Amino acid sequence: MTETDDDALTPIVIAGGGIGGLTAALALRQQGHNIVLLEKANEISEVGAGLQLSPNACSVLQRLDVLKDLEAFAYAPDGLRIWSGENGKQLARVELGKFIRERHGNPFWVIHRADLQRVLLDRAQKTPGITIRLSCEVQDLTPSPYDHLVCIYRLGEETANQKCKALIGADGVWSRTRRHVPGHVNARFSGQVAYRATVPIDQVDDKFARDSGLWLHRNSHLVHYPIRGGRELNIVALAREDWSDETWSAKADKDAVLRVFKDWPAETRNLLGKPERWLKWALCSVDGSGPWTHGHVALMGDAAHAMLPFMAQGAAMAIEDAAILAKHLPKNVQNIPSALRSFERDRKPRASHIQGISRGNARTFHYSGPMAFARDTVLRLTKPKSLAARFDDIYGWTPEQ
Ligand SMILES: Cc1cc2nc3c(=O)[nH]c(=O)nc-3n(C[C@H](O)[C@H](O)[C@H](O)COP(=O)(O)OP(=O)(O)OC[C@H]3O[C@@H](n4cnc5c(N)ncnc54)[C@H](O)[C@@H]3O)c2cc1C
Repeated sequence: MTETDDDALTPIVIAGGGIGGLTAALALRQQGHNIVLLEKANEISEVGAGLQLSPNACSVLQRLDVLKDLEAFAYAPDGLRIWSGENGKQLARVELGKFIRERHGNPFWVIHRADLQRVLLDRAQKTPGITIRLSCEVQDLTPSPYDHLVCIYRLGEETANQKCKALIGADGVWSRTRRHVPGHVNARFSGQVAYRATVPIDQVDDKFARDSGLWLHRNSHLVHYPIRGGRELNIVALAREDWSDETWSAKADKDAVLRVFKDWPAETRNLLGKPERWLKWALCSVDGSGPWTHGHVALMGDAAHAMLPFMAQGAAMAIEDAAILAKHLPKNVQNIPSALRSFERDRKPRASHIQGISRGNARTFHYSGPMAFARDTVLRLTKPKSLAARFDDIYGWTPEQ
């Protein structure tokens, strides 16, 4: 199927209004496509607390002109302090803030996911040519006799159709669109869970209130950073646990969190005791080396390559995917399947590389004994700017590449 001028009005359908789907809607619209975004939830409201938004993600958001709208909600930590979760001593500091901004031309921000999602949604809703439909669960895609495709979706109890020229599956780790890609790989539970909560910043010790923090312990670790312009602290406590659930928002019990972190230093247990409300998330991944495209269907973001959050790059990769997908789909693209394959070829090496780094961190963060000693010694001996420079290939990426 090739595109003619008449077909140019036929929309691209995006399944999923998460960070990846909304960014793709804006990027593809910037190329001149009409977009219909179908989201199965009845409102787009992001739970799940904070997100580290690294310069590579910010470079895409800058190009889409949404970075300035995010600034009021963001917080730019001066550094990331790495601590031993065994004895409470500081191991290292990674220089962020001004250093990263000057090095990569874009900020390293931490932000509440809801703030990022709301800014993207507001922009998409105000952009002519983008239609967002809620409570619409994409179910199927069929060819029609009229040289276009029909996306079938469920709207309440009804089934509805949407003519389209391509279907982009931005429907997350449990993607349904994935079924349209033969040989696809499904999500796998990693045996690890993340407990997430936020707490007003004035309730926490000064030590936690400014820089980001990463605490390392055998079989568990803790991450915290200020969000909402520095008014709240986001806390993520990760541990091995045999549990899984396909939702962002399974409730968790504070006592259960404290039990998992029972042999941690008192100051971290005090911090974990502050939030009244905890959410728990089963950490799953999708092997990004599997197929992402088939004909007029492409997967992106977590649907294509969900990764463990040990490099804090999952959403950043979904945002990067959106920019590169749009680059391969100019308005008058003649051969959509070929363009989607080019997108896959372009993105796969980077997504797989960063998945590999995340898997590696999953091991090193939880070392014990001599391996932990060796890791901590290297951290102690490395200067803050050198530690930051180790991430140049991740943070220095821009959509122009
Ligand atoms: C503990 C934790 C911490 C993390 N921290 C970071 C971080 O600091 N930085 C970072 O970059 N990343 C981080 N991530 C990863 C990041 O959250 C994900 O990679 C990112 O949200 C993926 O975005 P997405 O748009 O691909 O998918 P999702 O955000 O999952 O969005 C998918 C959307 O599709 C909708 N949907 C599903 N099925 C259908 C259907 N059939 N039809 C229509 N709609 C459908 C869903 O309702 C949802 O709205 C973290 C993840 C975890 C678990």
